[in-house]
Amino acid sequence: MSAMPAVPDPSPHPAPSERVELSVVVPCYNEEESLPRLVEVLTQELSALTPHFEVILVDDGSRDRTLPMLREVHRAHPRFRYLSLSRNFGKESAMLAGLSHARGEKVAIMDADLQHPPTLLAKMLPLLDTGDYSQVVARRTRAGDPALRTALSRLYYRMMNRLVDVDLEDGVGDFRVLDRRAVRALLTLGESNRFSKGLFAWIGFPTAVVDYENVSREAGATKWSMRNLFNYGIDGVVSFNYRPLRMSIWFGILATVVAVGYALWVLVDAIVHGNSVPGYVTTICAVTAFGGVQLIVLGVIGEYLGRIYAETKQRPLFLLKESSESDLPVTTVLGREHEALEPIERSIPE
Ligand code: UDP
Ligand code: MG
Repeated sequence: MSAMPAVPDPSPHPAPSERVELSVVVPCYNEEESLPRLVEVLTQELSALTPHFEVILVDDGSRDRTLPMLREVHRAHPRFRYLSLSRNFGKESAMLAGLSHARGEKVAIMDADLQHPPTLLAKMLPLLDTGDYSQVVARRTRAGDPALRTALSRLYYRMMNRLVDVDLEDGVGDFRVLDRRAVRALLTLGESNRFSKGLFAWIGFPTAVVDYENVSREAGATKWSMRNLFNYGIDGVVSFNYRPLRMSIWFGILATVVAVGYALWVLVDAIVHGNSVPGYVTTICAVTAFGGVQLIVLGVIGEYLGRIYAETKQRPLFLLKESSESDLPVTTVLGREHEALEPIERSIPE
């Protein structure tokens, strides 16, 4: 039994029928160190913006005290709801879980480590309120980031924008506010392999950008290793177009032309000068070079094939283990069966 608060809570639990103006979705993975400060700052900032807010903290299968802390936070501040995923599904899935349970007319997404300053919401929301935009995104300057990471990231975005069909911008991350229309559109995209930066861009709608200074993490450590970032980068390229497949073909044609040319030259050389059987070195070079090319091309094809396999399984994108509302179904919106229950969600034109 938990002790009831002696004084009535100034921010009572938003009843399911209450009009929620703003939902804030925060994915949390091992964030025990950031949580107390986050709750404090959010309570302060959000109540200044609107009395009708809710925060959805999504525990992404944390191994530390995050979940018990979320229970406590919900008990003390019922406007802070929580969802807990059955294991670590990754930030993309955690965000999605939060989005699909957000009730607000506007939904903000931000990180738990306060690298996305909640004060910026005061600048972002009015832009959405003008009605001219469906998304307002925050763009950070990269001051204070490790130089190598900044340089790699610049290079990546430059390459990406040549490759993919949607516009991606350096410094624009997941910190953004969406209106209902954009949220609904996002939830209709049923793919399992979610590269949300691309998805946010793909849904389109008028988008406004607000700049902010880079902030370093308040507490705890980043959950992204260089390897994660690299894989995330590949995801980005492969998720949004078939150009790597097309490039493989060109690569193959080029290699074939070079090989045939070389073969002709060897042939003519043998006819004119006779065969003296050296050429061990060239043979080895050719075999390894073409072996390499074939492996790369096979890898590219395999990458797409793997994605097709993953998508055909139609698995739910996350599973809930626990939440602040006891009546939540285990699988929801992108837990597939929900789609059958709500055909309206599907009726959004592409
Ligand atoms: N996060 C998550 N699941 C994961 C990894 C991260 O929900 O598997 C959350 C994390 O708790 C934080 C946000 O995603 O709220 C961003 O993570 P982090 O600060 O580690 O990334 P960075 O800011 O370095 O890009
Ligand atoms: Mg961070």
